[in-house]
Amino acid sequence: MKTGSFNELLPYLDRYMALGTAMSIMDWDANTAAPEEASEYTAKVLGILSQERFCTLINPSVKEIMGRIDEESLSDKEKAIFKKLKKEYEKSETIPADEMREFGELCSRANRVWQKAKQENDFSIYAPYLKKLIAYKKKFATYAKKGEEKLYDILLDEYEETFGMKELDRFFGKLKAEIIPLLKRISEAEEIDDSFFYQDYEIEKQKEWNHFLAEYMGFDFKRGVIAESEHPFTTSWHNHDVRITTHYYKNNLTSAILSTIHEGGHALYEQGVDDSLTQTMVGEGASCAMHESQSRFYENSLGRSEEFWVPLYPKLVETFPKQLMDVPLEKFVCALNKVKADFIRTEADELTYCLHIMVRYEMEKLMIEEDTPVEELPELWKQKYKEYLGIVPENDTQGILQDVHWSMGDIGYFPSYALGNAFAAQIYNTMKKDLPVEELLRQGKISVITEYLREHIHQYGASKEPRQLLKDLTGEEFNPDYYIQYLKEKFEKVYHL
Ligand code: ZN
Repeated sequence: MKTGSFNELLPYLDRYMALGTAMSIMDWDANTAAPEEASEYTAKVLGILSQERFCTLINPSVKEIMGRIDEESLSDKEKAIFKKLKKEYEKSETIPADEMREFGELCSRANRVWQKAKQENDFSIYAPYLKKLIAYKKKFATYAKKGEEKLYDILLDEYEETFGMKELDRFFGKLKAEIIPLLKRISEAEEIDDSFFYQDYEIEKQKEWNHFLAEYMGFDFKRGVIAESEHPFTTSWHNHDVRITTHYYKNNLTSAILSTIHEGGHALYEQGVDDSLTQTMVGEGASCAMHESQSRFYENSLGRSEEFWVPLYPKLVETFPKQLMDVPLEKFVCALNKVKADFIRTEADELTYCLHIMVRYEMEKLMIEEDTPVEELPELWKQKYKEYLGIVPENDTQGILQDVHWSMGDIGYFPSYALGNAFAAQIYNTMKKDLPVEELLRQGKISVITEYLREHIHQYGASKEPRQLLKDLTGEEFNPDYYIQYLKEKFEKVYHL
């Protein structure tokens, strides 16, 4: 007879949540307001908090209570939390504490060296660190390995549960077959003129406009804040305090607009989590990919459509008359969808984005499954860019050194970005059957669309798994064909192919 009650876990779970919130407030501060020289000292505080947080959850008392709890007697919400808790336990028990600490230290050093390597365009100083990071990740995966499992599958599972190489190979295989030929046809088509995006756009006016845009999208300023940072991001402490950042460039109108819409999409998700779940282990987005599905849906499916801009564009022209007076709406939207194979993932257009991810997926497979020596990676990177995007990076700064992820020990993360796009397309396909999406956008009723997403996805936080959310909403299993179909239809139209 099991005598434990879920309530016995609550003091531990609350403390875990509170320490996590404190850490993310400091992280927010470090990225938006903290002075330049604070980082090393603040890192010490974060290290201590992180250790405290870990021990709050992973300790004999919690384990003893868990052992006394009868899972069958739990509510659905409690079951979901219990499952997360068990996963944290499994992870912590497979990796020895001293190795975990060493790995943490390695990551923070590797990150600093990566920044220097990127700045100086010198892969060789970063290579020994990347080699060590790969070795640690492989060792950790070996600890967790059951039976015939592949190591890279174990790493992938950390970021997007149950989406392994078998499914991803099929997914990227389809992208390769359909999108690379499409990109080739586009590169032969007439180039779209987007030069008017790069005139002088006064920053103060941009700020005002982006504030208005976030409000229009439904971002709740009573429960959220917008600030500025070098790289835009979203952080959520609970559903009543969700923060996004954007970055303004004087000679680029759309960079801030698109990141406001993107981060706004993440924020609507977090603000939409139900009150009963927030501040629990399942009180946030369901997964990396599901989160990205929401941000990309707002950014690309809505934010780059003509219908979205029908109610907004006149106000944008009013704000920047000199620059946009002679640019009709159709031309503006067409320029938003310009495709150009380029080197940098974070600046990629909607079509080529997935190819950038495919390169990284294949590189990670080489690193983990094929034991490819790190010295060979920069050249392989260049070859893949040539093969898939038709361009060769001139140096490693615009090649293999561009992303921060590996230097932070995140190997296996990238595919979730591409999966997010595919989730978004599948969701959109169903949404269009349920709602007159284009009509709603024209009428400025974007709130109806957000309400739909809230009802089917946002409110559940992580209490339902991504596959379940997709199935409950669309009536079928994950199906990447919708994404490929969406891209083909959209870009054949944009480029009149
Ligand atoms: Zn995002």
